[in-house]
Amino acid sequence: MDNYKQQSLFDNSDTSSVKEDYAVKERIEYLKEEINKSNYKYYVEENPYLSDFEYDKMFAELKSLESEYPQYKTADSPSQRVGSVSEKFFSHKHKYRLYSLDNTYNADELRSWYERVCKDYGRELELVCELKIDGLAIALTYEDGLFTLGVTRGDGVTGENITPNLKTIKAVPLKLFKNESLEVRGEIYMPKASFEKLNEEALANGDKVFANPRNAASGSLRQLDSTITAKRDLSMFTYTGIFENTDIKTHYEGMEYLKELGFKVNPNIRLVKNIQGAIDYCKEWETKRFDLGYATDGVVIKVNDIAVQNDLGYTARAPKWATAFKFPPEEVSTKLLDIELNTGKTGVVTPVAVLEPVLLAGSTVSRASLHNFDEIERLDIRIGDTVLIKKAAEIIPKVIKVMDSDVHNDLPKYVPPVVCPACGALLVAKDNEVGLYCSNPNCSQLMCSKIEYWVSKEAMDIDYVGPSLIQQLYERKLISSPVDLYRLSEDDLMKLDNIKEKSAANIYISVQESKNRPLNRLVTALGIRHVGKETADILTGEYTSLDALREAKLEDLANIEGIGDIIAKSIYDFFRDENNLKMLEEFKSLGINPQNKSNKVSDVLEGKTFVLTGTLQNMTRDEASEIIKSHGGKTSSSVSKKTSYVLAGENAGSKLDKAQNLGVIILTEEDFLEMIR
Ligand code: NAD
Repeated sequence: MDNYKQQSLFDNSDTSSVKEDYAVKERIEYLKEEINKSNYKYYVEENPYLSDFEYDKMFAELKSLESEYPQYKTADSPSQRVGSVSEKFFSHKHKYRLYSLDNTYNADELRSWYERVCKDYGRELELVCELKIDGLAIALTYEDGLFTLGVTRGDGVTGENITPNLKTIKAVPLKLFKNESLEVRGEIYMPKASFEKLNEEALANGDKVFANPRNAASGSLRQLDSTITAKRDLSMFTYTGIFENTDIKTHYEGMEYLKELGFKVNPNIRLVKNIQGAIDYCKEWETKRFDLGYATDGVVIKVNDIAVQNDLGYTARAPKWATAFKFPPEEVSTKLLDIELNTGKTGVVTPVAVLEPVLLAGSTVSRASLHNFDEIERLDIRIGDTVLIKKAAEIIPKVIKVMDSDVHNDLPKYVPPVVCPACGALLVAKDNEVGLYCSNPNCSQLMCSKIEYWVSKEAMDIDYVGPSLIQQLYERKLISSPVDLYRLSEDDLMKLDNIKEKSAANIYISVQESKNRPLNRLVTALGIRHVGKETADILTGEYTSLDALREAKLEDLANIEGIGDIIAKSIYDFFRDENNLKMLEEFKSLGINPQNKSNKVSDVLEGKTFVLTGTLQNMTRDEASEIIKSHGGKTSSSVSKKTSYVLAGENAGSKLDKAQNLGVIILTEEDFLEMIR
């Protein structure tokens, strides 16, 4: 490939020589080809090889070149079309065309769009802001209130008839509350938690892993066997309707009417007076979106007045009366510089990607998770590759795939380690597990990881003690386990580099104060396999002391809601290990033995299990949990048929959807407070 074709004209500070007509034409051809190839991979194969950000960059460049050099703009350009249709299904010609959306990326672009829109009206126009749900567009036809046809957007003119599959989705009403005939459009999506779970299962079974919730929703929906779709957790937000026989004048009224008909409309819709209102909305949701249970990649801003919408009309690809504001990417590609190995608190050795620093969803990322060695092999990740990284549900970025490149095949394949990177002991595999474990129980890094976890915020929350201090203490043989922290004197601490009297006193006080942490924190800090903060909360809701937990029978543990057989066995085994029992005795002798005092106020919630979701107004979720427990109730992290109530605050996510699907009673904060009054 010639260099000038691959090089972005926008990236070049001196473009005068490249921008000769011939070069421009070639560049346009190259972009068209690449975008068409990416479209097929993305829409038909659900296996994108470019990040959305890179795709959008190429698309923007193509559009800009075509507008500067209209002589090279052709009818078959991807800039003139929407999506793709696969031949897997019966195709269906849409009665009303479906469009894509043009993108904006900042407040200035939003203002320019608004100026263009308002230009001919000489006044400000009201706008409706909606979250841009990252899923798959579908058109649903209802005749006399009955769902008769469901078609994907496809290329906008023709889509795929997937009616049987859509019927398996609970949020697609089969019968409306009124005998209305209309077409509605909505976005089918997969909640983040279900997407993670689907990928975890796929990973364990060696099946295809989806790159993002949108591809997962599309892959699950476009199945030839609708029983597979039925097993996937899919939902839908409806975002527009084509009303033939009503006097609906605005988009906002239309959305209210869709709710009346029984459609699920995203609750975060907002009517604003002008573009400033829309900019404020975008800013607000740029961070708030991470609290949602489903993925959003932006905000859609629409002119509210339907008459104005009709007047403004469409380009070949998108409405002029709407625009999408795209959030900064949650996926981006960068170079893998190295693979670092860490021995964790359970002895498992995890590979960590060391990356060329890159901006991802608002922060610079230079390290990412690589899961385990099986995953490195499955994805054929090699040091030197360009990899796609993603902030999955806003926590630690993960490497999700290797991008196509010419260099990949020339790079040496990655070979997993056979010995522990810290102590040199042999690594071993455990039954039915993918990880490799250090075989040395006294491995230095394992012990340091244990102590780091012990002092962490979610465990004993000990200020002033971080990884480098722990490393120093360990190397100087002042500590070899968490217990030793409590035996340190201020004099011991002052022997360390850069620790003077004041710091030593701070560290000492902080360590000693942690002796008073409640039982749930201590159970978390123990680092029992599979027992994190949430499980520790469940356990300490059932058992009031470490002694009581130690005595617990295996079957009793397994019967606790939220604790399965595997976790129960891990807890049971922990309390049968001589070394652990010795450590617990030492803690006791140091005065670390918290008991859960009963703070029971009443029994009104006896036998009731609550799941909490969303943001509550008058209390935090932790406070709500405490109240529930003090009235004899229990809390659980996931919704099941056994759940008595879901207490839902603002921006509740997938748990609320699941509760609705299972028919679990949903409480508002007011309902809840009323119950315990
Ligand atoms: P889009 O997803 O950017 O925007 C249009 C779509 O937004 C509509 O069709 C609709 O389905 C959806 N939408 C969600 N919420 C909505 C709401 N409230 N109101 C109206 N519409 C709403 O456009 P597209 O044409 O579906 O896809 C183009 C995008 O897909 C690109 O910008 C890129 O991010 C991605 N893509 C990536 C690749 C790749 O290789 N990575 C390839 C093709 C497309």
